Amino acid sequence: MPAESPPTDPSTSPTRTAYRTCPLCEATCGVALEIEGDRVLRVRGDKDDPFSRGFICPKGSTLGELHHDPDRLRGPLVRRNGRLEDATWDEAYQAIEDGLMPLLEKEGRQSLALLLGNPTTHHLAPALYLRPLIMAAATRNLYTASTTDQMPQHVVSGLLWGNAGVFPLPDIDRTDYLLMLGANPVASNGSLVTAPDFPGRLKAMPARGGKLVVIDPRRSETASRADEHLFIRPGTDVYWLASLVQTLFEDGLVSIGRLEPWVDGVDEIRSLVAPFTPEAVAEICCIDADTTRRIAHEVAGAAAAAVYGRIGAHTVEFGTATAWMTAILNVLTGNFDRAGGVMTSSPVTSPIHEREPGGRGYKMGRWKSRVGQHPEVNGEFPAATLAEEMETPGEGQIKAALTVATNPVRSYPNSDRLDRAFANLDFHVAVDIYVNETTRHADVILPTPSPLAGEQYDLIFYANAIRSVSKFSKGVFEEDGPSEEDILARLISVLRGKGAKADPRIVHDEEVEGLVDHLIGDPESLIAGRDREDILKALEGHSPVEKLLDLRLRTGWRGDGFGTVPGGISLEKLAAHPHGVDLGPMVERYPARLETASGLLELAPAPLVADWERVVAGFDRVRDADQMLLIGRRHVRSNNSWMHNVETLVKGRSRCTLLVHPGDAERLGLLDGGDSIVKSRAGELRVAVETSDSMMPGVVSLPHGWGHDVDGIRMNVAAAHAGVPSNVLTDDRDFDTISGNAILNGIPVEISAAT
Ligand code: SF4
Repeated sequence: MPAESPPTDPSTSPTRTAYRTCPLCEATCGVALEIEGDRVLRVRGDKDDPFSRGFICPKGSTLGELHHDPDRLRGPLVRRNGRLEDATWDEAYQAIEDGLMPLLEKEGRQSLALLLGNPTTHHLAPALYLRPLIMAAATRNLYTASTTDQMPQHVVSGLLWGNAGVFPLPDIDRTDYLLMLGANPVASNGSLVTAPDFPGRLKAMPARGGKLVVIDPRRSETASRADEHLFIRPGTDVYWLASLVQTLFEDGLVSIGRLEPWVDGVDEIRSLVAPFTPEAVAEICCIDADTTRRIAHEVAGAAAAAVYGRIGAHTVEFGTATAWMTAILNVLTGNFDRAGGVMTSSPVTSPIHEREPGGRGYKMGRWKSRVGQHPEVNGEFPAATLAEEMETPGEGQIKAALTVATNPVRSYPNSDRLDRAFANLDFHVAVDIYVNETTRHADVILPTPSPLAGEQYDLIFYANAIRSVSKFSKGVFEEDGPSEEDILARLISVLRGKGAKADPRIVHDEEVEGLVDHLIGDPESLIAGRDREDILKALEGHSPVEKLLDLRLRTGWRGDGFGTVPGGISLEKLAAHPHGVDLGPMVERYPARLETASGLLELAPAPLVADWERVVAGFDRVRDADQMLLIGRRHVRSNNSWMHNVETLVKGRSRCTLLVHPGDAERLGLLDGGDSIVKSRAGELRVAVETSDSMMPGVVSLPHGWGHDVDGIRMNVAAAHAGVPSNVLTDDRDFDTISGNAILNGIPVEISAAT
């Protein structure tokens, strides 16, 4: 790992270039920021970043605008006499202590809901401090973006190979055949897989004879570039995937390969999918049987194939069963843990032990929600059930909320109901950079610093990366006010009952010393049995988050073991590589990585087999339903609800339109550019129509995260480009019951022309 030239010294240059990783999405693109004084002049892709190689999307190029946004909060707000007013940090924490703690004392800790949003996973400080925050909150009412997105994959990962946090990543750089369902990485830049320049990586496939097949109810930006695109009726992916699996059995195509001795449950899967022949599902899925059979043969016959399903396939009624069938296809065709198939990442911050397969296994339903008795999954309750927990009186009713970088009033189902529920809370603390549709209800808002301030390392998403990469950067700017870790540490102190004035260094020291103690006490750690004081001394001079990161780097599988592994990685060495380092592609990790109690890859775990009855029972109902179905869509200039205050990203023609197939528009009397009324069980919207033959007949599409024309928000650009909130239409009554995941695609709707 030879050192690279250091970045320009800001003290001797009027302009400077800073290198950093874009924190806006999972792709982790390297950016080069040209800076003059305290202004960002330009943001471009860092061509020397070994992972992203100069790629950025339009969002990344606006990081400077986000940093300079006058609406971004620079100091805390506290509600006084019904209005959110400027306050000092001490006043804000005192207001939390005075307002929240007596309430929790009286009503109990279950009266607090803790909600965590996506940005918490992109920043180093929250990635390191969320666990102590969750512990300090001491409530079981934990809600995150996982149950509006990827909880089905967590469940499948947990039950099949024993670790809910290990995702099967399509090895897109080496695959010969990529079958993609409900994913649009050309717009999203990848989901549950970190691969910067996903479009470029897809483009490289044909040169090596690769084929991309996209299954989607909309001819999306990705589908348009595919070798083959097939429409599928929303919500029926599970039946189609089951028919592919059935074909593998029927046509003798099952070939598990190297991992066969560790795979259990094959015969049970054979009988579960037996009824779902390509002919049986052709009508419900709208894909003819010959095509289905051909694709099953292509997947099985490719030198290496990857089947990858994402949000459109997972945020549906049978999302977990869909993720399950996807995993089964990969395993039965020998493509699980195979180069060019689906593999798992090897982040440099994790230790990797060559041990015998087996572990503690994965448990769900250890406790249940108060009102609906919904089982916890990954320690969380379904986002869809939050409003009922807030509104239903009785012991344990949620009366307070702590929201961290999340806007559930725009991102959770039945958002109008949730909006009312938030308005009626007794106390709400928000950690957020904006006064948005949710935080406008808060009693205290603690703004975190700019995304360009503070140390950065993409701890979470390097754990989903298709290559082992590592990149650390110092803050580009220093801002007045506390660091993100100090903000969280003071909040933790208040929640622990230590008072508003407690020194955040107590929490930092506890975290660092706790991790050191854990690592020297772990017989498998690279620093097992080492002297505690020696390790703490070696960390001196670093900030708290740097210490916590350095500990992980130096004890990870490429670490220097604090001096015992020559050439190993450390924070100091990484700092000499401002563009980051690339330590190679994914490698085979199974069977050693199996953490199920049996030590086997469990293809047919009992909870999934039990849930299959729901899938079977739903077949006739889904087939016979004749309503129009609503799906979402993603745009490369949008990032859920929170990048809509950046003028460059929202200017121009409104993207918040209802896409309708021209034939449907004619049948329903809808005019291109005219307004429509869309009704679901949950709500009603008025939205402009855009006719497009990219839509499957019978299916309409709305983007999510919009609807910024409400009183009390302080996002002037967003308010001027308000759009409509699609989650007024999504339903909080139904969800994928095994995972608790919301249903955000395949919503039955009625559509008429607005008068
Ligand atoms: S794809 Fe865009 S938003 Fe995502 S990390 Fe790259 S530049 Fe940032």
